Amino acid sequence: MKINAKIMLKLREEKAWSQEELAIASGLSLRTIQRIERNGAASLHSKKVLASAFDIDIQDLNYDEEMQMTPCPACKSKEVYQYKDYINATTIEGELLPKLASSMFSSAKIRPVVCGNCGLLRFFASNDALDKLKESKHWMRV
Ligand SMILES: [Zn+2]
Repeated sequence: MKINAKIMLKLREEKAWSQEELAIASGLSLRTIQRIERNGAASLHSKKVLASAFDIDIQDLNYDEEMQMTPCPACKSKEVYQYKDYINATTIEGELLPKLASSMFSSAKIRPVVCGNCGLLRFFASNDALDKLKESKHWMRV
């Protein structure tokens, strides 16, 4: 399963814990902590012990990608459809989100979401790409 690595990182920083300290507090290995913070992939057991270490409900670590896709920001309809997988943006003419993928020369993976009511089409970048935004010299915060 996937957990919200961003919330996990925020909680750890709030407690001023290093990854090692979180490993001790949760009983997980350092390697497991590092992997979860990197890609959010965690077992149910890991999720439980992390929630307990942070003293929060297990649901607070849920990965809420779907929640931000609905309702439609234009018409507020909840009839929103997402493509079942991420697609590589280079398969679309031109390039969406260049230089946010694992390789310098490729684009981030994106997931199209379309509103079944008004047709508004949105693209969501993968978490992987979002993690790279802050350090990217090709993207600046506005
Ligand atoms: Zn709509």
